[in-house]
Amino acid sequence: MIPAVLPTYNRAPLAFERGEGSWLIDTEGGRYLDLTSGIAVNALGHAHPALVAALADQAGKLWHVSNLYRIPEQERLAEALVEKTFADTVFFTNSGTEAAELAIKMVRKYWADRGEPERVEIVAFEGAFHGRSTGAIAAAGGEKLTKGFGPLMPGFRHLPWGDHEALRAAVGPETAAILVEPIQGEGGIRPLPDACLKGLRALCDTNGALLVLDEVQCGMGRTGRLFAHEWSGIAPDVMMVAKGIGGGFPLGAVLATERAASGMTAGTHGSTYGGNPLGCAVGLKVMEIVSDPAFLDAVARKGGLLRQRLEGLVATHPEIFESVRGQGLMLGLKCRAAAADVVAAARAEALLTVPAADNVVRLLPPLTISESEIGEAVDRLDRAAARLAAPAP
Ligand SMILES: *Cc1c(COP(=O)(O)O)cnc(C)c1O
Repeated sequence: MIPAVLPTYNRAPLAFERGEGSWLIDTEGGRYLDLTSGIAVNALGHAHPALVAALADQAGKLWHVSNLYRIPEQERLAEALVEKTFADTVFFTNSGTEAAELAIKMVRKYWADRGEPERVEIVAFEGAFHGRSTGAIAAAGGEKLTKGFGPLMPGFRHLPWGDHEALRAAVGPETAAILVEPIQGEGGIRPLPDACLKGLRALCDTNGALLVLDEVQCGMGRTGRLFAHEWSGIAPDVMMVAKGIGGGFPLGAVLATERAASGMTAGTHGSTYGGNPLGCAVGLKVMEIVSDPAFLDAVARKGGLLRQRLEGLVATHPEIFESVRGQGLMLGLKCRAAAADVVAAARAEALLTVPAADNVVRLLPPLTISESEIGEAVDRLDRAAARLAAPAP
């Protein structure tokens, strides 16, 4: 019999009741060190007092009004994002998927308004993940996402990751946009080298195409900069944001330059909940904390520490781990053992991690994790690896 909850997930047999900072407490009182952060969502950990206060304060005043009216919290969050990024304008969504949908619509409208409505091809990359809507699965293109859900929305071309030759052959004056994650998340923490991101920007400039970055997972301070592309010195035309931006409240956004967004006039797009006062009040507090340069420096420093400790772990357990990759507090352990077994062994040590494609275990701790918690996490991974390496009794 089908469960009451549609069984689209393979769930671990754990249910949590409370969270405190980097820790999750299950219904039996067990304490788990959380290196998942709800998959890069709880950027400030669980039950951060400033976020709880921002939410409670707004909850007592106003939860929802229609976007038929001005929403001051939404305007303030948009202004904060515009001030700290390349963007001139922001549209708020409830998720990364909805941000992907708008980004695609924005690209199409841009070319339609320029008298080239047939210019719809968006170049994307294998291993990408942009969400689960029909548009987002077509954009990512992978068989795991798309099988059984055809016919897929046309207009996407998928290139192998890191194939410069294929890229130069594929991008031309007919290309509408290039869509890429600066660090692939679901794809297995695969960073796009800075030189490649610069190369994509140059390719877009040469051909007039728009550069659309998906920073849903790697953005909002995760890499030690507010947005991951800042490391390369380039700026996109359009950027998708979600996950960390709400610190756990469902919130997403599309950021864009005035030029890229020029077709999105009144009546062309909308959302009932997107940019509601509750979400934006929380988002504003997240933004205030995460965009502080001292906070971002601490993320970079802690990321360096975690990485260094993980390199040591790889050296100690070469039969379990192969290498470390990623940036800041978005790190991946490429495994020799099955990544799913490593995640299960870590869970047995009360440490939560996330598997990803390419046999990688993702480590996405709250950005507020302490240095001693980082040490504790690596000790637990060490015990998990020893557990896996031990001959079966
Ligand atoms: C999670 C994710 C999405 C989809 O976000 P949802 O909020 O789950 O809709 C899109 N792109 C990337 C890179 C993601 O990691």
